[in-house]
Amino acid sequence: MDRAIYILLGAPGAGKGTLAAIISKEVDLAHIASGDLFREALSKGTDLGVEAKKYMDKGELVPDQITINMILDRIARPDCDKGLLLDGFPRTLEQAKALDEALAKNGENVTKALLIDVSTEEVVRRLGGRWICRDCQTPYHEVTMRPKVEGTCDKCGGQLYQRDDDKESTVRSRLEVYTKQTKPLIDYYGKIDKLAKVNGEGESEEVAKRLLAVV
Ligand SMILES: [Zn+2]
Repeated sequence: MDRAIYILLGAPGAGKGTLAAIISKEVDLAHIASGDLFREALSKGTDLGVEAKKYMDKGELVPDQITINMILDRIARPDCDKGLLLDGFPRTLEQAKALDEALAKNGENVTKALLIDVSTEEVVRRLGGRWICRDCQTPYHEVTMRPKVEGTCDKCGGQLYQRDDDKESTVRSRLEVYTKQTKPLIDYYGKIDKLAKVNGEGESEEVAKRLLAVV
């Protein structure tokens, strides 16, 4: 089959979901988010879903082969005939190699890996610094949406607090994990000349334009 197969890579906070939605619409690609695939397989109780659940229930990582088979099943559906954009998979070098092998059996290969490049400081600015009102749950942000009085909700006067996930130190350690896991993957696509790096800073419409210029 002659179709485009894109892989979307980017750190947490790089805006992958939003960008994938814009791109897949503009270029008529099926947007395959691995998280959605898992949720669907689990809720429908497919063979692969049942298999994956065994590992998840034990708190273990789902083996690559199960994930790969889930992806292969999904990309064999007719909505992927024109092309597809994988989001959230592959995550590791092993998964990337397994995907290439599986695609090669059908005489296919990855068209390009699109890396949305966002600096650590930008991710920290986007994901860190979020505060929430204890009483009415209104979100605030240290930089982009400051309350009138520090630590106090504009709407109800409630106290603002920070969830662990929104703390700068948590964001930084998540990024470290991401970088460690993804670096070999990025190097791999670079070496086989399939990597397209796109500046991910700025408004999502601007970033989407940059992405569209390389697909
Ligand atoms: Zn409030």
